Amino acid sequence: MTESPLTDRFGRTINYVRLSVTDRCDFRCVYCMAEDMTFLPRARILTLEEIARLARNFNELGTDKIRLTGGEPLVRRGIVDLVQEIGTLGLRDFAMTTNGQKLPELAEPLRKAGLGRLNISLDSLDADKFRTITRTGTLSRVLEGIDAARDAGFDRIKLNTVVMKGRNDQEVPELIEFARRKRLDISFIEEMPLGEISEHDRGLALCSSDEVRTLIRQHHDLMPTTDDTGGPSRYYRMPDSPVRVGFISPHSHNFCGDCNRVRVTVEGRLLLCLGNEHSVDLMRVLRAHPDHDRKLRDTIIRAMDLKPERHHFSSDGDVQILRFMNMTGG
Ligand code: SAM
Ligand code: SF4
Repeated sequence: MTESPLTDRFGRTINYVRLSVTDRCDFRCVYCMAEDMTFLPRARILTLEEIARLARNFNELGTDKIRLTGGEPLVRRGIVDLVQEIGTLGLRDFAMTTNGQKLPELAEPLRKAGLGRLNISLDSLDADKFRTITRTGTLSRVLEGIDAARDAGFDRIKLNTVVMKGRNDQEVPELIEFARRKRLDISFIEEMPLGEISEHDRGLALCSSDEVRTLIRQHHDLMPTTDDTGGPSRYYRMPDSPVRVGFISPHSHNFCGDCNRVRVTVEGRLLLCLGNEHSVDLMRVLRAHPDHDRKLRDTIIRAMDLKPERHHFSSDGDVQILRFMNMTGG
C-alpha cells in the first residue's frame, strides 16, 4: 500500500479537514466568545470559491471527510451554494457543525445540496438558561431547527453540549431524555481554554466527562462501545436505546495519538493542532497562484511535518491559546 501524501512525522494519516467558513456568529456563547467581538473584514477572509478550491485540493490529496464550521456557518451568505459545490466531490463523509438557529429555513436546502451529517449545539432546554449561555440565542428556534433537520432526512444528526459546572451540569439527565426521545446521538464536551473570556472562571466551571457519566448513571446504565468515528469522542450506549452518548474530554483523555485531522481558519490559516499555534498561510498561496494548484498542494503536504505530537491543555482554566474557538471551528 502506498503511503498517503498527507502523513505526519508520527505516522498519522490526515484524511479529515474542518473548514471554517466564517468567524461571525449570531450567538455569543459564554465559553466561545467575548460579548463584544470584532470580526474580520471581508478582504481578510477566504471567498467561497477559495474555500471550494481548498476542499477540492484536500480531497485530491486523500481527504475524504470534510466538516464545515465557523463561527456559525449558516450566517455566511452563499453557504448552500458552497455545500452544493463541495457535495459534487463525492466525499465519504460531509458534515457541518451549527448552532441550529437558521435550520428551520436551511435544513432542507442543505440536505438537497448534498450535506450528509449535522452536529447541532444544544447546551440547555431551559429558554432562559439557553439565552444566558448563548447571550443572543432563542431556544424555540433551535428546537424547531432540530425538527427541521430530522424531517430533512440527514444520515445522522448529533447534539453537542459543552458542560459547565453550576450552569448546565444539572440538566444532563434532561438532555439525555431529549436525545432519547428524538433518537439523536449526543456528545458532552469539556470546555477548552481557547480565547480569553472574562464571563466565568474556566477552572471552576470545568465539569469532567467522569462527572457527567456519574450524573447519567443515576438514571441509565452506560456501556462503553468500541465505536470509532475517527474523532475524539468516546462512545457509550444505554441498554434500551439506539442513541449513542459521546464524551469529548480534552482534559481527562488525551486523544492526540490517533488524530487524523487538520483545520483551516477562514483567514486561510492551516492549523495542524487545535491546542497549538503551528500554522501555515494558505491564503497567500491561493492568491499568489490563482491558476494552478501545484504550489498549494505542495504547501499542504509540507505542512504535515509541522503537526505536533499532542496538545497541552491544562485544566486550571488558563488560556494557552489566544485564538477564540470561533476562529478554529472546534
Ligand atoms: N457555531 C457552530 C456551533 O456552535 O455549533 C459551530 C462552531 S462552534 C465553535 C463548534 C463547537 O465548539 C460547538 O459545539 C461549541 O459548543 C464548541 N465550543 C466552542 N467553544 C468551546 C470551548 N471553549 N470549549 C469546548 N467547546 C467549545
Ligand atoms: Fe457561535 Fe458556535 Fe461560538 Fe456559540 S459556539 S458563539 S454558536 S461559534
